[in-house]
Amino acid sequence: MSQYNPPDYYLIDELISEEHLLIRYSIRQWVNKELSPIIEDYAQRAEFPKHLIPGMADIGLFGPTIPQEYGGAGLDYLAYGIMMQELERGDSGLRSTASVQGSLVMYPIYAFGNDDQRRKYLPKLASGEWLGCFGLTEPDHGSNPAEMTTRFVEDGDHVLLNGAKMWISNAPDADVAIVWAKNPQGKVQGLIVERGMEGFSTPTTHNKWSLRASATGELVFDNVRVPKVNILPGVASMRGPLSCLNQARYGIAWGALGAAMDCYDTAVRYAKEREQFGRPIGGFQLQQKKLAEMLTEITKGQLLVWRLAMLKNEDRATPAQISMAKRNSVETALKVAREARQILGGMGITGEYPIMRHMMNLESVVTYEGTHDIHLLITGQDITGLNAFV
Ligand SMILES: Cc1cc2nc3c(=O)[nH]c(=O)nc-3n(C[C@H](O)[C@H](O)[C@H](O)COP(=O)(O)OP(=O)(O)OC[C@H]3O[C@@H](n4cnc5c(N)ncnc54)[C@H](O)[C@@H]3O)c2cc1C
Repeated sequence: MSQYNPPDYYLIDELISEEHLLIRYSIRQWVNKELSPIIEDYAQRAEFPKHLIPGMADIGLFGPTIPQEYGGAGLDYLAYGIMMQELERGDSGLRSTASVQGSLVMYPIYAFGNDDQRRKYLPKLASGEWLGCFGLTEPDHGSNPAEMTTRFVEDGDHVLLNGAKMWISNAPDADVAIVWAKNPQGKVQGLIVERGMEGFSTPTTHNKWSLRASATGELVFDNVRVPKVNILPGVASMRGPLSCLNQARYGIAWGALGAAMDCYDTAVRYAKEREQFGRPIGGFQLQQKKLAEMLTEITKGQLLVWRLAMLKNEDRATPAQISMAKRNSVETALKVAREARQILGGMGITGEYPIMRHMMNLESVVTYEGTHDIHLLITGQDITGLNAFV
């Protein structure tokens, strides 16, 4: 039985409706039963637990905010945040799979696709029958994707796509890829590329020390003939990929706190049980300082994302506010994971406890979907009106 007892020091649950608490309960139960017992083994072996996909779909983890008529769960952003938090308490890699599927694949099809595209792809993605991936980053263009070189030219009722994407979550297992590429006019457009299209390959990225239970790969396009009906018609600028990232970053802001709460909870239990010098290590001031600071930062983060959810539900959350929350939550989670690891002493580095896995996972979370530095610069630009990127 799971001993997970997440902190709620400021009684934030009182700000959450019964319906949302029920959603949280159902995801928590699923994580306890299906994910937590196997995740350490899959992470150690660097294998994606693909068999979990139907179960993730059943509990609505794919496209929680997509309307029900397209197979989504039709929920609000508070529900989406809570779901990501519970999932990432289990593992950031599996949360990444859900973020990509919902925010980076289903969302652009919903927001920028036509109705034929929505009806063809969204129900299959929501049910987990198809897995998707999102190709924006390139080998030479990470923080500055606007300089991408992947492009397509006209070829009758098709386009010919050439280029390569790197660091793509879900790529090795994906049935469809949302690929951002420059059109003949040099504008960024989204294309739905399907596995099996000639010239399209997805080599796996090996040797990761982080997100080991999430499959990462490249997307390689060698004169891939993509039907024009697979182009997302609703956007032809960087607004397309950036608005997807905004959705996903919002989920990460909630999710990373889930990893932090799991580390904190584990450390509290350990500190009360582990005895040295004849008493529990939790009785020493130095360990109490660590725990007190961890709880303080987690509580501040919880309040931030709760408020962000309210703003998002009212369509008032700005991209800069989302950047601040993503950056804060991941920083909090990394600090909490590192301190918690120390509280566990030698046991902290083993797979007997989830802390080291969370810590290594968070080293990717702090980099993807906009690096820690880039989010800081977004806040700086919002404050001053001055762009410090270039
Ligand atoms: C496990 C994993 C999964 C990923 N999944 C996906 C995915 O599914 N789809 C996708 O498209 N991408 C994905 N990414 C890519 C990720 O978004 C990029 O790694 C990220 O945007 C950073 O790009 P980069 O690695 O090329 O670093 P760079 O852009 O080369 O940055 C290197 C360093 O320079 C700093 N830097 C860059 N520009 C500036 C500046 N102007 N001022 C100050 N500092 C700067 C950065 O903060 C960073 O510290 C994934 C990455 C990882 C690690």
